[in-house]
Amino acid sequence: MGKPTGFKEFDRKKVAWRLPVVRINDYDEIYTEPKIDHLREQGARCMDCGVPFCQSGTGCPIDNLIPEWNDLVYNNRWKEAIERLHKTNNFPEFTGRTCPAPCEGSCVLGITNPPVTIKNIENAIVDHAWEKGWIVPTPPESRTGKKVAIVGSGPSGLSAADQLNKVGHEVTVYERADRIGGLLQYGIPNMKLSKEAVQRRVDKMTAEGVKFVTNANVGQDVDPKELVNANDAVLLACGATKPRDLPIANRDANGVHFAMEFLTANTKQMVHGDSIDADFISAEGKDVIVIGGGDTGTDCIGTSLRHGCRSLVNFELLPKPPEERADENPWPEWPRVFRVDYGHEEAEAKYGRDPREYQLLSKEFLKDDDGNLKGVKTVEVSWTKTDDGGWKMAEVEGSEKVWPAQLILLAMGFLGPEQYLPESLGLEVDARSNFQAIHGKFATNIDKVFAAGDCRRGQSLVVWAINEGRGAARAIDTFLQGSSNLPAPGTTMGTAMQV
Ligand SMILES: Cc1cc2nc3c(=O)[nH]c(=O)nc-3n(C[C@H](O)[C@H](O)[C@H](O)COP(=O)(O)OP(=O)(O)OC[C@H]3O[C@@H](n4cnc5c(N)ncnc54)[C@H](O)[C@@H]3O)c2cc1C
Ligand code: SF4
Repeated sequence: MGKPTGFKEFDRKKVAWRLPVVRINDYDEIYTEPKIDHLREQGARCMDCGVPFCQSGTGCPIDNLIPEWNDLVYNNRWKEAIERLHKTNNFPEFTGRTCPAPCEGSCVLGITNPPVTIKNIENAIVDHAWEKGWIVPTPPESRTGKKVAIVGSGPSGLSAADQLNKVGHEVTVYERADRIGGLLQYGIPNMKLSKEAVQRRVDKMTAEGVKFVTNANVGQDVDPKELVNANDAVLLACGATKPRDLPIANRDANGVHFAMEFLTANTKQMVHGDSIDADFISAEGKDVIVIGGGDTGTDCIGTSLRHGCRSLVNFELLPKPPEERADENPWPEWPRVFRVDYGHEEAEAKYGRDPREYQLLSKEFLKDDDGNLKGVKTVEVSWTKTDDGGWKMAEVEGSEKVWPAQLILLAMGFLGPEQYLPESLGLEVDARSNFQAIHGKFATNIDKVFAAGDCRRGQSLVVWAINEGRGAARAIDTFLQGSSNLPAPGTTMGTAMQV
């Protein structure tokens, strides 16, 4: 504990984002560069609690050693801080930029005061380390001669590859997209996580001996059974991006798209240069409606604003969350409270109001004679608690409304992984169509084949994908060698958050 009185002396001050009216004109990251003294002061707020709730349980899913690096930052020992951080997290710049920070929801200081700015400090430690040149390729000293194939290059596949390579296995990552990174590359937009930050890690891993094969769709371009035969172990880390649809009247109108069609094409366009991709969907000059919230909805808002949309509304089916924790949502649980993410802040700066409209059910899309979208009809809904503790939704009579729209983006969550790969391998799936494997073991019903990340647990968070990738690496290493020195990350199930 750097400064015993720090939590009394200093208020919580988050590292500022760039001004919304400025940043909506570009795709650069939204963050500003923090000052060292600011970070030291914020690190001094950590109370180094006897039981650091931030670090496990409902807190950080990868057991980041938070109080230790808070103390090191306060004492200006940045090199040791990155060494501690890398012990539990292969990619702190991914979590430091994208994580919703369940650690802060569990921070003990948060019981009486605003919590420590843990996520900001994590991000600053790793950015500082890259700047100083402390993060360099460190290939393993010897090789085991065992070969591991990983299908999918999102955060779960990448963290597993990094761990397995460290202990000397020969790792090849197969990715069906033209770039490595999974949703870090073609999902989360540049303003939240720059693609240079993703590529920098891929380059480092390549220099350490990990092989990456892009445009390799396993199950279509690559025979999955041959892959299993040619390797000592295979890890499936395919993600879960089958989108939930909204099958109401006129769903076929030109202008209704899944969020991922919009976001993926936008990033592809950006990384491949100026030529307009055939799949690119423009929001320019349009009245845009985003149906559904979470990170995906926010990213659709931020991207539409950058295209120069005319107006923007975000429909939510549920009521507006409370400003403070409700009684049934006590510390150290994840606080289910009203939050203003970057896209909401930007929409408010441009149009003078938060874009979210709550308790709205979409009833019907409206299209013109040429099949082009011209709006959506909604009805308000009310929610009442049932005797068994559940919630019942009812439509409010006479509350129908028509909203003009030429572009509607569906961001209503995901239904699990695509099924062609498990089908071609004879892999068992669970009731939610995720690949069947137990957390901690990660083994599927097929010999030598493991599964981790969203394809095993359902659409989740980057930090959980890293937890699973690291855990699967340990399970695979044990399978190959009889035992493993790789660490086992936390096994708590965490809290449900919408992406
Ligand atoms: C728009 C959006 C925004 C998000 N924002 C956040 C956020 O801000 N913070 C956060 O914590 N989480 C966020 N998430 C969730 C987070 O991105 C995911 O939970 C995480 O990326 C899952 O990692 P993964 O490695 O399991 O899968 P993915 O990242 O989905 O990667 C899976 C990869 O496998 C590849 N693949 C699939 N099948 C095959 C095959 N047969 N052959 C070869 N390759 C294959 C896919 O192309 C993909 O690249 C967001 C999700 C979305 C959709
Ligand atoms: S990874 Fe997420 S939960 Fe863990 S310390 Fe970082 S911000 Fe907190």
